[in-house]
Amino acid sequence: MHGDTGTGEIEQRLAELERAGLTRRLRLVSGPQGPTVLLDGQPVLLLCSNNYLGLADHPRVREAAAEAAMRWGVGAGASRLISGTMTVHRRLEECLAGFAGRQSCLLFGSGYLANLGVIGALAGRGDTVFSDELNHASIVDGCRLSRAEVVVYRHADVEHLLWSMRRHSGRGSAQGGRLIVTDSVFSMDGDVAPLTEIVELAHASGARLAVDEAHAIGTYGPGGRGVLAQEGLEGEVDAIVGTLGKALGSYGAYVCGDEEMVRYLLNTSRSFIFSTAPPPPSVAGALAALELLQERPHRVERLSANARTLRRALASEGFAVAEGDMHIVPLVVGDERDTLRLCQEAIERGVFAQAIRPPTVPGGTSRLRLAAMASHTATDMRMAAEALAKAARKLGLDPAELGTPLAEPEPEIVEEAGEAERETHEAPQVAQFTPSAPFDIEQPRPRRPPAPAQAGSSEANAPFDGEREGAVAHAA
Ligand code: PMP
Repeated sequence: MHGDTGTGEIEQRLAELERAGLTRRLRLVSGPQGPTVLLDGQPVLLLCSNNYLGLADHPRVREAAAEAAMRWGVGAGASRLISGTMTVHRRLEECLAGFAGRQSCLLFGSGYLANLGVIGALAGRGDTVFSDELNHASIVDGCRLSRAEVVVYRHADVEHLLWSMRRHSGRGSAQGGRLIVTDSVFSMDGDVAPLTEIVELAHASGARLAVDEAHAIGTYGPGGRGVLAQEGLEGEVDAIVGTLGKALGSYGAYVCGDEEMVRYLLNTSRSFIFSTAPPPPSVAGALAALELLQERPHRVERLSANARTLRRALASEGFAVAEGDMHIVPLVVGDERDTLRLCQEAIERGVFAQAIRPPTVPGGTSRLRLAAMASHTATDMRMAAEALAKAARKLGLDPAELGTPLAEPEPEIVEEAGEAERETHEAPQVAQFTPSAPFDIEQPRPRRPPAPAQAGSSEANAPFDGEREGAVAHAA
């Protein structure tokens, strides 16, 4: 592609995507993200929105955003460190810090930017990041951009994380320089990271820990405060990432931590420093949503009840779906084209659940990712299960084979892996992996403070270095 001014290569790449069943197109939704929408003009039940609590279209949230537009204008006009920090930003940060049970909070433009910013600030050249193989793409990209060595551990596998950390204990900077990063609720599978063990391991090894609660905030734990709150671990993590664009119904994201950490991020996170502050209407809308969540936490219970009904209804239609109240329900089909066909058949029966394919999920695990919302009814959930079962049978797909993600084949990839086996992340390193007693990794080391000196561990983090060279290390 480089230097090619014609369209030949682009056409060819598009044709390749087409052949692999991997092309995407935009579908048009009319009206707000309610339980039902008009999709390309056709009424459907919306079963793939992250508007989990139905707050994106709540009257109080809309009013707050509209009032903010009148009071503060539509845009912040500048980055936070120039003139873009307005009273409304400060207010939301204070409320979110309280909600997360932490001293301090910093708003970012989006969850994608927050993950890039946190990882880049906490790890740099000479450091090592340990990352779950199913972490979100923004974490994957944060790892790549950080220039740290990246070690991918098997999904939610603490034994493998421990083993990986032991193998890399000698490397990194003299002060440690290790960061563990994980989603709390995994976005495409709806399962939960073993955070208690990961926190223990981070403490025992002196590694830093960043947790992305994007899909847990507003949906999981006491009052929707997330997995960390559920496990009583809010204070045990260096950086908690949350988004405003999912259960909080708006747009943007935040990072919570102690006062020193937030001051450090403010000084070193490039995606915070070099990007326009979130728009006042989005911030005020998120603030109203947060207030609603705290005033009426029963919304979270309604979401869980809908998730339980959906799961039961799917199981009674024969799908391989476990009971539970996790609102994200994957129906793993496997093949890309079958997944697209199932998506289309379901739409024709009035249910919209977008097909999710690589690189969003690993090859061979394409799926419909169903997401319940608090604004659905139990009848909606049963209707959806019935429609999905009919759609599957029409295509000759057995519902019993659709559901819980397929067990991944043992990865054979070892240290020399070049290009990632899957674009979502590097393949985990498994050479001679032998489980061992947990947490005997090495002598606990004092956790290094996030002093500005640490920023020096990554030249890329120096905020105003104007560094532009393109090479991005993503060592395997
Ligand atoms: N983290 C996770 C786990 C996500 O699923 C997403 C988005 N789907 C993000 C971060 C990015 O958040 P945003 O959409 O606000 O950029």
